[in-house]
Amino acid sequence: MEKLNGKNNLTEITYIIAQYNVECIELEEFVSRLRSQVFEYIEKRKQESEEWEQASERDREDLIREFQKDALESLFTRPPNDRVLETLVFKAPQSVTVDDELLELFSGNIELYRFYVSNLGRASKVVQVPADSYYRKAWESLVELGLAKRGKDIPVKALLESLRLKDINEYFADRLDKKLTRKAQAIEFAAAQPDVWEVLSKHISFREMFQIVEPPGIDVTAIKECYEYAFAQAKLIRDTYVAGYRTLEWLQEAETNAYSGWEIQAENCCRFCSALNGERTQRILSKLPPFHIGCRCSIRPIYE
Ligand SMILES: [Zn+2]
Repeated sequence: MEKLNGKNNLTEITYIIAQYNVECIELEEFVSRLRSQVFEYIEKRKQESEEWEQASERDREDLIREFQKDALESLFTRPPNDRVLETLVFKAPQSVTVDDELLELFSGNIELYRFYVSNLGRASKVVQVPADSYYRKAWESLVELGLAKRGKDIPVKALLESLRLKDINEYFADRLDKKLTRKAQAIEFAAAQPDVWEVLSKHISFREMFQIVEPPGIDVTAIKECYEYAFAQAKLIRDTYVAGYRTLEWLQEAETNAYSGWEIQAENCCRFCSALNGERTQRILSKLPPFHIGCRCSIRPIYE
């Protein structure tokens, strides 16, 4: 049980889905049903809206976001996690194969891939990672894969960008008549110094500076989309199986123990399931959790 709930497990399923472009038929059917309900809802809201016809393009975007949000809330049977639901309904990637080449590069190192993707999109940002940092190994592995730069391989301006204005003024004080007051100006000034690396080396350990490298020729937004979508699928699949597993465990228990009845626990699920919360029966229920894909409900025996 412990293992089934583990975070690692979720990352593993995500990776499998992303790498092999797995499609789960039941999940696809469920999601496509949700999509058409959402689509219908939004169309209806557009028609009913007094603003829509006259609205500017910008206002329409705003209205659509509002309709989308309400549409998800209006769903009666749905996976309980808002972000997962939103991803599955609205953020299906154009292509699930854009990340294949990149995944190949990581040759099964799931955690590292997750770490890399979570850092993508902030490629210009330089981070300081001390030797005892939890993430140090991950950064070093990315450097080995050519997916991160370290120390002097980082462009000097990017490195300076990671410093505070106060620090730049302090490091280069010996050649400044008066303090620089703007960061951009300070970076320009420092980068133009012929001994800039030497000055910096007195204050910074280059070994602990890292910067993400975006995969060449690969669309970063699409990569992130693919990962988010695979993660959302993984979460629903896992939650469904965990619910099923719990139910099975109780049923096995019931064979050896005499319980007086069963109670449905559904407070962390959707509106459809919530209506069943606390329902009690004496015999084992004919319909058992999971009640739908992504359902997080369970049953508990009653001992009275
Ligand atoms: Zn449920």
